[in-house]
Amino acid sequence: MTPTRKGSFHLFNLAGINVHLHWSWFLVAFYQISTRPDAYSTPLWKVAEYLSLFLIVLMHEFGHALACRQVGGTADQIVLWPLGGVAYVNAPQRPGATLWSIAAGPLVNVALVPVFLGLVWLDRANGWITHAPDLHRFVRQLAFINAGLLIFNLLPVYPLDGGQILRSVLWYPFGRARSLMIATILGFAGGLGLLVWLVLSQGPDDTFSDLLWPLALLAFLLMNCWSGFKHARDLQKIAKLPRHAEFKCPSCHASPPAGRYWGCGQCGQPFDIFAGGGTCPHCNAAHDMATCVDCGSRNPLESWKNPKL
Ligand SMILES: [Zn+2]
Ligand SMILES: [Zn+2]
Ligand SMILES: [Zn+2]
Repeated sequence: MTPTRKGSFHLFNLAGINVHLHWSWFLVAFYQISTRPDAYSTPLWKVAEYLSLFLIVLMHEFGHALACRQVGGTADQIVLWPLGGVAYVNAPQRPGATLWSIAAGPLVNVALVPVFLGLVWLDRANGWITHAPDLHRFVRQLAFINAGLLIFNLLPVYPLDGGQILRSVLWYPFGRARSLMIATILGFAGGLGLLVWLVLSQGPDDTFSDLLWPLALLAFLLMNCWSGFKHARDLQKIAKLPRHAEFKCPSCHASPPAGRYWGCGQCGQPFDIFAGGGTCPHCNAAHDMATCVDCGSRNPLESWKNPKL
């Protein structure tokens, strides 16, 4: 359950990455700006604050996308929506590569901390609180937003960055499937913990509309945990299949499973591409490329030969 290009429009392309904005972003921006002008003297400051939030989230997502490319993965799309941003990254299925692609997002916020601390220092040194109260408030709010995003993203609750970092670390001892399973179960527990905390922290003046937003976010977290958990179960099934040890994926180094897991491009029948040297037993069509069942990357059949055998 993530926003897709559907319902989003294209903003711009930077370094080959297409940035899309989901329509609901405007809805929430309008709601936030019109109902919560805060202490600013004009709502324009609130607009500026919202645009800055947009920029901080965008830089965070670019951190993910560029890091993913650096380790040989693909990343060509970022969609921004009210719950944050989603960088569509496809990192190579190795723990180190995944860890770096995830960690680079929060690291952008870490890099921004001294920038905002500098602004807060300027604010104090120049006495903006009395001479330019709007600017004073704006600077404080941005520093607060960046720190808040950093802390929130690092919560070890899957699919937040912190939960995915935990998953990548667990990948080393537990493997790809079990690490995902552990992280999504912990994510469920963490999500329920957040729910309890949310309900308990409600003050007598809080209305249901104050709860609506955090609840939407929690629903999003729990649904992603569930789909992550199902994916982990599928990965476990794949992991148990007998393998062709004489081949291995050039991208993730996993040996392909023995069985009819590939579809013939000519006759559409499933067949074992590694059993007959790429020839379909139904129609004799020759295939020279094979898709990895484990990581999804596509490589020439020739490059799959396991040099150790
Ligand atoms: Zn992130
Ligand atoms: Zn692979
Ligand atoms: Zn065929």
